[in-house]
Amino acid sequence: MSCQTTEHSAYVQPPFNDPGGDIVIRTADGVDFRLLKALLSLTSPVFKDIQDGLTVVPIPDQSRTWDNLMRIIYPITKPEFPAIDHVVAALQASSKYEMREIHSVIAPYLTPYTDNEPLRVFAIAYQHGLQAQMQAAAHATLRRNVTAILSDIPCECDQLPVRIYAQLLRFHHKTNEAIDQKFADPNWILNMRPPMVKGRTLDFTYSILWLRSHTCSAMHPTYLTYRYQSIKATITPPLWWMEFLDKAKNAVKTHMKGTAVNNPTFAIKAMNEAAGCKEICQTAVPLYLPHVIDRMTKEIDAFLETLRFELEPDQPRPID
Ligand SMILES: [Zn+2]
Repeated sequence: MSCQTTEHSAYVQPPFNDPGGDIVIRTADGVDFRLLKALLSLTSPVFKDIQDGLTVVPIPDQSRTWDNLMRIIYPITKPEFPAIDHVVAALQASSKYEMREIHSVIAPYLTPYTDNEPLRVFAIAYQHGLQAQMQAAAHATLRRNVTAILSDIPCECDQLPVRIYAQLLRFHHKTNEAIDQKFADPNWILNMRPPMVKGRTLDFTYSILWLRSHTCSAMHPTYLTYRYQSIKATITPPLWWMEFLDKAKNAVKTHMKGTAVNNPTFAIKAMNEAAGCKEICQTAVPLYLPHVIDRMTKEIDAFLETLRFELEPDQPRPID
């Protein structure tokens, strides 16, 4: 970085125009920041060796970016990032000036953009080594199908290695399989903590009565094997229940949250069909299905939390 000593007038907002400041940072758009060198060199080694006396240091960054970095450094101000581009510019500048602590303070400002632009945030987070933001963004990409993601490739993806993108696709694939397995396994539903009805904890045998052996109006052509405490049993589930589960599973895959199961359309259809079974479903389902759905939403949220994107270690290259 080249330094020069010149006269100038400062037009920037307080506290970045303090006459007591002993260094002037002149941004690419011609704005002068009069700052405290001690504070700057505390946060960036790049500014440690600047000569004594009021020095003007021109930098290639825009005043808006530099303003945000200074707002993080100066305790009485807060940065403003009205668009993701501003966060990216601040991340790049803080990397360039080796402001490590500042870098980690900026990272959470990516969060508000994660849901709308997950792939872009993923690429940015990868580029800047931000693990938590990368995980959150990878999770958010699950709410889009892969083709939708690819219909609008952000420019930041130019910096995303194919190897990392392939890991993201594998994460999609694994998540899909994990959800399929979760819904194919009746054990978690049968072993869910029983719901409370009228202040009373219900045993599962009372709450999921429809999974007890009975002659339903329509049975699903499968056998489910499950364990409840020490009991191992095989049941033939009612058709309406399996159809409900299938809808719930697809909704979870689309929305990636537990509340997706709690869709009134699914519940009403299930109840209507269950009404055809005079033996158990007709009475048990309207009473207990809402409680079971409520428990399922919580179980699914806890399960989705366990599906985390982790960067795979680099593969060793074969020796030629
Ligand atoms: Zn039935």
